[in-house]
Amino acid sequence: MLAPGITKGPSGCSHAAATNHTSDHRHHRQRSKARHQYEKRKSVGLCAYFGCAASAATTHRYCRPHLAKMSESNQRRSQSRKERGLCVSCGRRPQFWGVRCLVCRELFGKNGHPLPLGARRALKLYRNAELQFEIEQRQAHARFAIRKLLADETIRGNRARALYLYAGLDTGSWRTYGEVARVMNLSHERVRQLLYNSKLIVSRMLNDGVPWKPLTREVTQRAWPKTQLIQPVTDSRSSINVQASNA
Ligand SMILES: [Zn+2]
Ligand SMILES: [Zn+2]
Repeated sequence: MLAPGITKGPSGCSHAAATNHTSDHRHHRQRSKARHQYEKRKSVGLCAYFGCAASAATTHRYCRPHLAKMSESNQRRSQSRKERGLCVSCGRRPQFWGVRCLVCRELFGKNGHPLPLGARRALKLYRNAELQFEIEQRQAHARFAIRKLLADETIRGNRARALYLYAGLDTGSWRTYGEVARVMNLSHERVRQLLYNSKLIVSRMLNDGVPWKPLTREVTQRAWPKTQLIQPVTDSRSSINVQASNA
């Protein structure tokens, strides 16, 4: 069946495309002939190179001299691609961390990882350096804030002393709670308590861009029992209280 509007020519082709079809047919004929020749030569163990009378090398489809010739020409092609910075496999795309392009790397890759080891190592170093930079920046900002708090006496007494030692304003390196505790001859827990509010203040000043882990909320005895938390805020008693206090 034909689609409407297409007239059938005597050869089975539409007239407009006849010339193209003839060349296609010829090409196809040549290809299948070559293919046939190749299969024939292969089946009798001859070198697959057209017109070569030698027999193929064991486990190969070509004779030794032809294998050597092909290998040589492959090497030349690789070399010229390398010199132009192109992938040695496809010769179309630029090389990516080695002699192959990103696409061909995937096909030849041994471990299937999208990025080569060298690139991964470089990225890791870069990420670590960035992280280190971030930490150092936070430490510098926190020290600056702490100096201000101590200078304007927002924080005083033992709290100030603990904070001063914690930020290492004397030595230039931060101390752990344990180290502060030893210097001040206090318990670890006492140091934690002394530093808690100061660290909250600094955290607020720096929008949490601080070099320490987020502080866990102090659990106080004033915590409300669960049942009271569930109750709505606008219960009758409290609204009466509000009215009473407003009156
Ligand atoms: Zn040969
Ligand atoms: Zn490629």
